[in-house]
Amino acid sequence: MEQPTIKNTLNIDMEIPQTRIAKFWEGLKQGKLFATKCTKCGETYFPPTADCPRCYSSNMNWIELTGDAELITWTIVHVSPKSFSQHSPYIIAIAKLKEGPNVMAWFTGIKPEDIKAGMKLKLVPKYIPEKEKLSYEFIQSCNINFRDGVCRL
Ligand SMILES: [Zn+2]
Repeated sequence: MEQPTIKNTLNIDMEIPQTRIAKFWEGLKQGKLFATKCTKCGETYFPPTADCPRCYSSNMNWIELTGDAELITWTIVHVSPKSFSQHSPYIIAIAKLKEGPNVMAWFTGIKPEDIKAGMKLKLVPKYIPEKEKLSYEFIQSCNINFRDGVCRL
């Protein structure tokens, strides 16, 4: 027997306050990734926060990230929100940055069958021309032969 279903479309649009984390957006424009580090408790945040969610201090320092990260887990999205539908399927990864925080971002330039937990990734700034937006994504860490957004080992 067929189950009744309801079809809905999910639209995602984010608004991020920019005034106290302007350096983050300036960094992306220059191809750099900046995080904030709490001067009181030492916790590092990416994306950066203007106040520390852990100890509520507002004394934050900016640090430039190396982008070096290690893959913890990932998922392949086949049914995507409407705003991302032209990209599906796509891969979302969570990786631990060398500087401490876990970051969730798209993982591009790799075939799903080549992904392994613990593999070395690089978090890199990304410009999305069709949306005229700045963002960031993971790619496979590959200093030897990186061309066209793909790691060629
Ligand atoms: Zn803190």
